[in-house]
Amino acid sequence: MQNDTQTYDIIFVGAGASSSLILFQLKKRNLLNKLSVLVVDSELKTGSDKTFCFWAEEESRMAKELDFLIKHSWKSIVDSCGDIKEILPYKYHHIDSLDLYNYVREIEGDSHFDRLNARVGAVSRDEQGPYILVDEKIFRGRTIFDSRTPVFQKTAKGQEHLYQSFIGWVIETEQDLPESDSFRLMDFDIEQNGFTQFMYVLPFSKNKALIEVTRFGNEPIETTGAEALLQEYANKNYGDFKIVSHEVGCIPMSNFEIERNIGSGIFPIGAKGGQIKPSTGYAFKNMYEQSLVLADRIENDMLSLQTLLQKNKSTPKRFAFYDSILLTILGSRPEKGKSIFLALFQKNETKVVLKFLDEKTTIWEEVLLFSRLPLVPFLSALIQLFLHSRSFRPTMLIVICSILFVLGNHSVAQDILGYGLLLIGFVTVGIPHGAIDHLIESGNWELKGIAKFSLNYISKALIMMFLWMLSPLLALLFFLLFSSWHFGQTDGKNWRFSNLTSFLWGTSVLIYILGTHTKETADILSAIDSHFFNLAIPFWSLFPWIIVALITKRTSFVLTLIWLLLSSQLPLILAFGIYFVGQHSLSSWSHSSEYLKLSNKSMWMHSLPFHLGAWALLAITMVFNTFFIQTTDAEVWGIFFIFIACISFPHVIWMHKLYTRNSF
Ligand SMILES: Cc1cc2nc3c(=O)[nH]c(=O)nc-3n(C[C@H](O)[C@H](O)[C@H](O)COP(=O)(O)OP(=O)(O)OC[C@H]3O[C@@H](n4cnc5c(N)ncnc54)[C@H](O)[C@@H]3O)c2cc1C
Repeated sequence: MQNDTQTYDIIFVGAGASSSLILFQLKKRNLLNKLSVLVVDSELKTGSDKTFCFWAEEESRMAKELDFLIKHSWKSIVDSCGDIKEILPYKYHHIDSLDLYNYVREIEGDSHFDRLNARVGAVSRDEQGPYILVDEKIFRGRTIFDSRTPVFQKTAKGQEHLYQSFIGWVIETEQDLPESDSFRLMDFDIEQNGFTQFMYVLPFSKNKALIEVTRFGNEPIETTGAEALLQEYANKNYGDFKIVSHEVGCIPMSNFEIERNIGSGIFPIGAKGGQIKPSTGYAFKNMYEQSLVLADRIENDMLSLQTLLQKNKSTPKRFAFYDSILLTILGSRPEKGKSIFLALFQKNETKVVLKFLDEKTTIWEEVLLFSRLPLVPFLSALIQLFLHSRSFRPTMLIVICSILFVLGNHSVAQDILGYGLLLIGFVTVGIPHGAIDHLIESGNWELKGIAKFSLNYISKALIMMFLWMLSPLLALLFFLLFSSWHFGQTDGKNWRFSNLTSFLWGTSVLIYILGTHTKETADILSAIDSHFFNLAIPFWSLFPWIIVALITKRTSFVLTLIWLLLSSQLPLILAFGIYFVGQHSLSSWSHSSEYLKLSNKSMWMHSLPFHLGAWALLAITMVFNTFFIQTTDAEVWGIFFIFIACISFPHVIWMHKLYTRNSF
């Protein structure tokens, strides 16, 4: 081994499939003689641990390049009725993992790259660049390919994390196999036991085959149950047999986000690099394609973070959506898996299904394919996904604004429905979203620190109150400024805006709501401050943002702009209230819940003391002002906004602390 302090051109963390495929491409390009390479794996890789299979067109680059490693190929499949069907133009290929690992061993001999049999403790970077930590020793690499086991994290509601678990035997049978030239991808002729389970069969010769019981589900399959199924299946279909070897595995089927340390010089690859197709568990072909892109970039010295991002972009987004639909069905109604996969393979040509799983079909081919599948589970999965999607809330707000508009401004029906909804919204989330700042501060409910926190909080609210007394105009401008910042920051997190775009958006939305209600705004503001407000904004002034939303393909942003346009035709209090409760408070609430990892109920209960305190203060302020000082509606609303300004000032400070925390 070379000196510990040496910097390598490339370090591979893990010597599994993805690293091996990249090393193969580097060797093909004669780059291994020019580059210094270190490969670190905690396993020795001396045995066969995986049966890698993939389908590819006969003339494809992948089939040709990997031909020397391919151990078996099949050009036909046995379907669920027992019929044999050709899969032309594809062939299904099998590579033994040990052959791939041994190939890397061979090129290692030629190229003299370094290998370390050790566990990598950390992959990181400091001011000198990327490095790995092995037994407290640092190894530096200009480029680090990281294929450690991925860690998945739920980042949105409705995401699913399932397992494709399997236990298989390679068996030798006494009598010849009934179909030794064709493989079985999914034979559902086994007990489902409340999951989606099937048998996968790869015949290697006339009397040798891999039979593998596979489960798609929330729980991995357990050995005893799996072996009973294998035994029964093998006896039923092949008679007497002996077990030659075993394969056990578990592949994540997930649309959770993968925790990845992406940064200059560090590239997650393979499973960690998101190459496993969530709905099938296949990754080998994706990893091969990734190896081509990465090796080309290394050859041209053009390896940048964009290399990985660009590749992901080249697959149309709709395929990720299809994956999510299937994961939703498999996660919530696993008993439906069998009928869906049976229909998929029986009612469609296998080559079209394989093309679809390769994410290469046209939209028309997909429409035909889906039209032949059972409708009900797909519809219920679609509804489930919609309820959890970012588009659900703005769609509901479009519906609410439309109904309020149709009821007619200031009609009794509009008042009852509109203000009724606002009252419910204020009680459930509008005020509570600002009453959990104590949790944001400490992360949990600490009675000891509450008094100090409350004093700090109230003193900030009093500073704001003092400013109102000193100079209403200054206080008003300051209120508008920090509200723009705060609204922008909350919405910006939803749509991943930069700080500047967030602020521009927050300012636009506030000015839009006020400026499309000039008369009502002027009445309220003149009750707060004697200055006259006369900023009239046309309802279409949000159009530039619509163009931004369309260009950046943010559906929920487009829908938000639609209901904001509609709200400009409603009375000011309703328009502002719908934004404050329906957009701002709900977003802020879900961000806090994501950070605190608390349920809605628990957060609401924790907010209760401050929540009640705020209502009590508001009631005292409003009663006092209504009966003793102010008279007109506008003046009452003016006092209400001053109150909101005072209590929201400290809230904005605490939420800013949250949004700028590294861990968030
Ligand atoms: C049993 C099995 C069969 C599969 N069959 C197929 C198939 O037929 N077709 C298909 O398309 N996909 C298949 N897959 C899915 C996928 O192709 C494989 O999981 C593939 O191995 C993923 O490649 P990888 O490089 O990301 O991970 P791996 O091949 O698992 O390589 C990662 C390597 O990193 C090492 N490592 C991990 N952590 C550390 C650390 N801290 N320090 C040092 N080394 C570390 C591990 O020892 C391992 O060798 C299969 C998966 C399994 C589990």
